[in-house]
Amino acid sequence: MIVNAYAAPSATEPLVPTTIERRDVGPKDVLIEIKYAGICHSDIHTVRGDWGAITYPQVVGHEIVGVVAEVGSEVTLHQVGDRVGVGCMVNSCRECDNCLAGMEQYCLKGNVGTYASVDVDGSITQGGYSTHVVVVEDFVLRVPESIPFDAAAPLLCAGITTYSPLAHWNAGPGKKVAVVGMGGLGHMAVKIAHAMGAEVTVLSQSLRKQDDGLKLGADHYYATSDADTFKQLANTFDLIINTVSAPLDLDAYLRLLRLDGTLVNVGAPAEALPLHVFTLFGNRRSFAGSGIGSIGETQEMLDFCAEHGIAPETELITADYINEAYERVLKSDVRYRFVIDTASLV
Ligand SMILES: [Zn+2]
Ligand SMILES: [Zn+2]
Repeated sequence: MIVNAYAAPSATEPLVPTTIERRDVGPKDVLIEIKYAGICHSDIHTVRGDWGAITYPQVVGHEIVGVVAEVGSEVTLHQVGDRVGVGCMVNSCRECDNCLAGMEQYCLKGNVGTYASVDVDGSITQGGYSTHVVVVEDFVLRVPESIPFDAAAPLLCAGITTYSPLAHWNAGPGKKVAVVGMGGLGHMAVKIAHAMGAEVTVLSQSLRKQDDGLKLGADHYYATSDADTFKQLANTFDLIINTVSAPLDLDAYLRLLRLDGTLVNVGAPAEALPLHVFTLFGNRRSFAGSGIGSIGETQEMLDFCAEHGIAPETELITADYINEAYERVLKSDVRYRFVIDTASLV
């Protein structure tokens, strides 16, 4: 099947309209007519080769929602017409310890990423800036009716990437949670942590987005450019979710954790970050990382968001705006996620 898409021809050229081939629908496959695709910062890092060399042309996008157009003969989980989503991975080995534990995002052989990854048939996966995609049924999520379809797309990466550590480290009533950074991930962390019942504090470079932060569910908002913030908030938080991909002073943030508190990085700086182990001794602090979430957790997150009426804040664009959107993402000039209307992929 030949379908329309938007692809990067190289690391340095703008994305261009093109066509790509999708595989035939196998017995366990689902063909999805994509309706909306979110733009994640990872898309930009990937096409520009920031995280390593890739094969071009490459179609990215791993925040995908659409409607099931066809199912294989052995598919039991989805039906034609269902509202579905696809996130950051489309397969895994299914036999390593982590896959067997239902943690396929941590597949020991490496999960198959939705784009720029080697698929089980040896081809390179192509992502969601496209009109259709074929995905094996158990990596396809159900998107509840009550979540607006265009706004649902960013839940598949930004939503699950923040939900997973918040759930794992028990954000909830009585817990003080700080979110570092008010971008695509950060604004979702605020909404989800608030819905979980935690007391939420945003730690942002400036107070520029304070009104938004408080409106989205934060109880407090501090500027990290103000040195006083770090004095005032010392030994305060049970959990800090750091969504910032740029290097930051880890020791300064770790000192904001109270007894047994954990700082979890979901931002992905390319550089190694220095850290004084003595900072961890105080208050028995932990420093951790977390990568996306399992398929089970992603479904749980979608159902949680439907139940609590949560959806990302989005700006809907047409495909011809993707390159401009990339420049704006790089300048943090979006509140808070671009979503491509794939009907514009003509
Ligand atoms: Zn992403
Ligand atoms: Zn595995």
